[in-house]
This record gives sequence, structure tokens and C-alpha cells, in this order.
Amino acid sequence: MTDCLFCKIVEGKIPSKKVYEDDKVFAFEDVNPQAPTHILLVPKRHFEGLNKAVPEDAEILGYLQLVAAKIGRERGIEDGYRTVLNVGPRSGQSVFHLHLHLIGGRDMTWPPG
Ligand code: AMP
Repeated sequence: MTDCLFCKIVEGKIPSKKVYEDDKVFAFEDVNPQAPTHILLVPKRHFEGLNKAVPEDAEILGYLQLVAAKIGRERGIEDGYRTVLNVGPRSGQSVFHLHLHLIGGRDMTWPPG
């Protein structure tokens, strides 16, 4: 999608600190980290958010979680991290290309704000 920030990051048109890439997923450091580890994982194929997902998206949604778990292992944060999808403006979603936040490396509180 031409006017999407995360599509441009995936395409390398906007710089990012890449953490992981394969044919389906691109992961990079969040520019405004909320914890020592804060990585965004995005499907390379543009789709807006979980509220727009269809049954065919099940594989990529599960795969994003598995890549997050792999990065969590590599970062040594398996004693506690969160994977978070903000869905819709009231959740705080500000970029409308689905992205999974991987947040860890510090103690967390519940419920989230
Ligand atoms: P959300 O609020 O769930 O839509 O998350 C969007 C996230 O994208 C925020 O955590 C931002 O800090 C992050 N972000 C925005 N622009 C960039 C960028 N150019 N590079 C890396 N992260 C970004």
C-alpha cells in the first residue's frame, strides 16, 4: 500500500532497526520503546488490523506470535514479556498496518492502561 508507514519500512523506503526478516514477516525496533525490548512485528502483506482479519489470515497471525517467541528466546526475556495487538483507535492503534508489539525486559503491571 503506497501511503502506509509500515509498508514503507518493509520496503526499506523508510529506515528502521531491523531485528528479523523472512518472506512473510519483518520485525524492527520501536522508535519509542516502552521497555528495554520493544519490537514491532509486521506481516509484509498489508492488512489493516485484527478487526479486518478473515479466516485466511489465521496462519500469519499465528506465525507472528511464533516469530515473537523466537525473538523473546534470543533476547533472554522469557521470564516475562507481552505480545500485544492494539486494535482500533480506542485501543491506541495509531498505525493501520497490523503490528504485534513484543514488549519485555522489565516488570509489568496488570491491567494495562
Ligand atoms: P500502535 O500505537 O499500536 O499503532 O503502535 C504504533 C507504534 O509504532 C508505536 O509504538 C510507535 O512508537 C511506533 N512507530 C511509529 N513510527 C515508527 C517508526 N518510523 N519506526 C519504528 N517505530 C515506529
